Amino acid sequence: MQTFNEYSFSKPLKEALQRLHYKKPTAVQAAVFNAFFSGQDLSVQAQTGSGKTLAYTLPICEKIEWEGHEPQAIILVPTRELALQIQEAFFKVGRFKRIKAVGLYGKAPFQIQQKELKQKTHVVIATPGRLLEHIEKGTILLEQVRFLVIDEADEMLKMGFLESVKAIKERLPKERQTLLFSATFPKAIENLAYNFLVNPQNLTITPEKVVNHQIEVKGYAVDPEEKREILLRLTKVMNPDCCMIFCNRKAEVEALYQVLKNAGYRCNRLHGDLEQRDRFNIMKDFKKGCYRYLVCTDVAARGIDVKQVTYVVSYDVPEDKEQYVHRVGRTGRGGKLGQAAMLITPDEEVAVRAIEEYIGEKLELAALPTKEAAAEGEQAFFEKMNQSMESMEDPQDEAIHEGILKLHINAGKKTKMRPVDVVGTLCNLPGMNAEDIGIIQVQDISTYVEILNGKGEKVYKLLQSTPIKGRMRKVSKVERR
Ligand code: ADP
Ligand code: MG
Repeated sequence: MQTFNEYSFSKPLKEALQRLHYKKPTAVQAAVFNAFFSGQDLSVQAQTGSGKTLAYTLPICEKIEWEGHEPQAIILVPTRELALQIQEAFFKVGRFKRIKAVGLYGKAPFQIQQKELKQKTHVVIATPGRLLEHIEKGTILLEQVRFLVIDEADEMLKMGFLESVKAIKERLPKERQTLLFSATFPKAIENLAYNFLVNPQNLTITPEKVVNHQIEVKGYAVDPEEKREILLRLTKVMNPDCCMIFCNRKAEVEALYQVLKNAGYRCNRLHGDLEQRDRFNIMKDFKKGCYRYLVCTDVAARGIDVKQVTYVVSYDVPEDKEQYVHRVGRTGRGGKLGQAAMLITPDEEVAVRAIEEYIGEKLELAALPTKEAAAEGEQAFFEKMNQSMESMEDPQDEAIHEGILKLHINAGKKTKMRPVDVVGTLCNLPGMNAEDIGIIQVQDISTYVEILNGKGEKVYKLLQSTPIKGRMRKVSKVERR
C-alpha cells in the first residue's frame, strides 16, 4: 500500500499527517482518495474504527480554497460530542493550511456561533437542528458550499433527523459533491440515501462483516434481578484498562453510575439530560484518561473515538440492531484489539436473534463470572482503578502543537483591528513571513494569533516594542488548556 507521501496532497497537509504519525492510508482512506478527486458523489460503508474521518477531512482540506471567506464544506453529524470531535479532526489535519472549522450545535450560545460565522469559515461541522436555525435566521451563507458530508449517514436519515437534513440539502447549492459515510447501511435507508446523491459511486470496504473482526464479543444470559451483581463481577474479572457501559435509558445510566460509584469505581456517565458543558467536560476527561469507566446511553455509541477503550459492555441489549455494531465499535479502533460483552435477560432474547441475523453470526454465550472469581480479582482490580492511567493526553495532540505559540493582542474589532493589520506587522518583523502565521481570530476587544515554526517566543519579545496598527498593544502568551 502507498504511504501518504506518495499521494499528491499539499505540503501543509503532509506536514500535519507526519506530526499526527499517520503513515499509510487505511483501506477506506485509499479507496476514498482514489474516488474523491473525480468529483463524484460517494456512498461509503466501512467498519467502525477504520478511519472514515480522515478519509473525508484530508481531501476536503486539500480542496478548500483558503482565500474564501464563507463555508465551503458542511459536515453533518448526529451528536454534539461528535461534532466537537470532527471539528478537532479538521483543526489537526488543517493546522498548517490554517483551515478554520466552526462547530454549530445546540445548547451552545447561538450568538457566539453567529459571530464566529462572520469571520473566515472554511468548514462547518453541525448537528442538523442548529444548522437549520442558522440557515433560517440568515446567520450562515451557503453559496460557496461545494461539499456536503453526512457522517453516520444511516442515523442521519432516520426519523428525527431526516426532515432537518432534507431541509438543509434543499438550501445548498446544487453544484456540490455529497459524501455519505457509515459502518451500517440498512436496506431501507440505502434507498433513501439515493435521494441525496447524484450518480454516486458505492464504496464498500470489507463487506463480508459488519462487526470489526478485531473485537471479541461474548453474551451473558442473566436474570433481571442479578444484572448489577453480574456487571460488578464481570468488570472485576475482566479488569479492563478502559470500559464503556451502555444502557438503553438515561435513568438506568444514572442508577448504574451511582451503583458503580458506591462500589468504589472511579467512573462517570454521559446522557442527554446533563448540562451540555458537563457533557463536553465528561467526554474530554474520559478521552484524557481521568477515569476508566463511562456509563452512557447511545449518545456515545456513534463515531466517538476514545483510543484506549478496551472493553464495551451492553448492560441492556440495544433495541436497534445497528446500534449494537456501533456500541461494540467503540473499542478495537485504528487496528487495535478489543473485547465486548452483552448482558441478556430472557425478555431480550428476541432482540438478540435479530442482531445475530443482522451480523450474520451467532453470539458466543459465556459462563457467568462467579462470586469467587470476582473476589479473587478484586485486589488487582482496585489496584488498577487507583493507578492513574499513564497520561492519555494524545501524543498526536502534543506533536501537532509543537512549535506553535498563541498570542493574545489587547485590541479587536471595537478598535478596528483587522487580520491584515496583524499580518502586516508580523511580516515586517525580522525573520518572519506569511507561512509563520497560523490562525488569526479577531474578536470584539481581543485578537488571537498563532505563530508557527518555533518563532513564537521571538515574535512575542519583538511585539513588546513594536506597534500594531499605529499603537503599542499589550501582547501576552496564551497557555494551551
Ligand atoms: P471511523 O470513523 O471509521 O469509525 P475514525 O475515523 O474515528 O474511525 O478513526 C479511528 C481511529 O483510527 C482514530 O483513532 C484515528 O486516529 C485512527 N486512524 C485513522 N486513520 C489512520 C491512519 N491512516 N493510520 C493510523 N491510524 C489512523
Ligand atoms: Mg466515524
